[in-house]
Amino acid sequence: MITVGHLINGQSIDDGQRYQDVFNPATGEVGKRVAIAPKATVEQAIAAAEAAFPEWRNTPPIKRARVMFRFKELLEQNAEQICKLIGEEHGKISHDAMGELQRGIENVEYACGAPELLKGEHSKNVGPNIDSWSEFQPLGVVAGITPFNFPVMVPLWMFPMAIVCGNCFVLKPSERDPSATLFIAQLLQEAGLPNGVMNVVNGDKEAVDTLLHDSRVQAVSFVGSTPIAEYIYKTANANGKRCQALGGAKNHAIVMPDADMDNAVNQLLGAAFGSSGERCMALSVAVAVGDAAADALVAKMQEAMKNLKVGAYTDSRNDFGPVITRQHQQKVVGYIDSAEADGAKVVVDGRNPQVPGYENGFYVGGTLIDNVNPEMLSYKEEIFGPVLQVVRVGSMQEAMDLIDAHEYGNGTCIFTRDGEAARYFTDNVKVGMVGVNVPLPVPVAYHSFGGWKRSLFGDLHAYGPDAVRFYTRRKMITQRWPSAGVREGVSFSMPTMK
Ligand code: NAD
Repeated sequence: MITVGHLINGQSIDDGQRYQDVFNPATGEVGKRVAIAPKATVEQAIAAAEAAFPEWRNTPPIKRARVMFRFKELLEQNAEQICKLIGEEHGKISHDAMGELQRGIENVEYACGAPELLKGEHSKNVGPNIDSWSEFQPLGVVAGITPFNFPVMVPLWMFPMAIVCGNCFVLKPSERDPSATLFIAQLLQEAGLPNGVMNVVNGDKEAVDTLLHDSRVQAVSFVGSTPIAEYIYKTANANGKRCQALGGAKNHAIVMPDADMDNAVNQLLGAAFGSSGERCMALSVAVAVGDAAADALVAKMQEAMKNLKVGAYTDSRNDFGPVITRQHQQKVVGYIDSAEADGAKVVVDGRNPQVPGYENGFYVGGTLIDNVNPEMLSYKEEIFGPVLQVVRVGSMQEAMDLIDAHEYGNGTCIFTRDGEAARYFTDNVKVGMVGVNVPLPVPVAYHSFGGWKRSLFGDLHAYGPDAVRFYTRRKMITQRWPSAGVREGVSFSMPTMK
């Protein structure tokens, strides 16, 4: 059986200790096994990163950026192989995997601008013969911990920018689909990165806890579920580390009575069921304003969902694939059961989908549930499956109150033709990423990504301009070169320019 190991100091390593099965969710079979790093292996990776730092820190930014230019080319040349690896372990259909990779590559393109992004500010003559400037210096060894649902894009949110800023990186990918992540790290090595600058350790809580407690690790970027995000943030902070921890979501779309209903249905289909709903920006709740809008939405959705195709990643005509594990499949089905038991109406039932030839895969079909209310467990918690729930409300304000009261605040969207309503919504809703007739308002690579409330712990968002600030620390230098022969007198008061 193939073993997925680690990448430490430029070498592929299998430490031969613990292993965990990696499933092919489309077939339900074990495809590979992944090495689970003990503390000592993680410490080896941290040591490699620490050793590589002094030289990498002093490598001119333009040279660091050139590695990223080559890396981008290698990602493009190996796109098919990367998407195959994503499909085999995550289950994502190739067109969706290609989209994930492209969004990831855009972060590499942004990182190529490092020489420009790292420029500081300069002020001449802040005092007599005194000049002052700021610099953005790398932190040292920084770590990333990533989730299963974007095994390529989310790591690419982190390490290209961290590395191009002059840091050395230790990445702990999801143990459920580790191969694509390891493969892109090997491509970065091939692009000419010095050994030790980028390291990958596969593992579980033991590996994560080692990164959180090791004093050589300066900063931690995390993306995953909210309970773990909160734990990571608190532990990293308690150990004096900078931390950004992005958590879970429950993204609502308001469907206004004046919305173009056919367009809203098309957009909702992709945003609710794409990637089996396993996106942190998936729209999982449609809040219909007024019964007429709700009835029209449910009827049109029900009709459109007849054409939804769930199946294996190998057939690009499929709309979405299986969910990640058998356990997760059962969890998603459990939420549908609980909504039904709580009195909601399952309009389209995906609990028992037929996927001929793949009877043991972890499939859940597209599911539509009407008459959901905020008291229901299926409404309160993140389902992370191909399930769209409809909540009926009487007014736009009621819809916004619902969104604001939810513990998560990652993404949201309003479908409307009314500019005034849209403007009020974008201005006031308590959510970090907001769309107007755009169902997945995922910021492009030159902006930054982050939710509000319990969808993000920390101050700075992921990638884009915030990542430059997260992966560097500002230093202010104030310098005087007195003219020859001029001596300053003694002064005990605060220097001013008065
Ligand atoms: P997860 O929280 O289970 O795992 C994320 C990472 O944390 C993995 O590397 C995992 O090995 C590690 N981990 C798991 N349990 C741990 C523990 N007890 N202690 C230390 N580390 C632990 O998340 P997941 O199931 O892989 O991913 C899905 C979740 O990620 C969803 O909640 C989704 O909304 C969220 N997500 C959020 C964003 C965002 O940008 N906000 C993006 C993608 C995914």
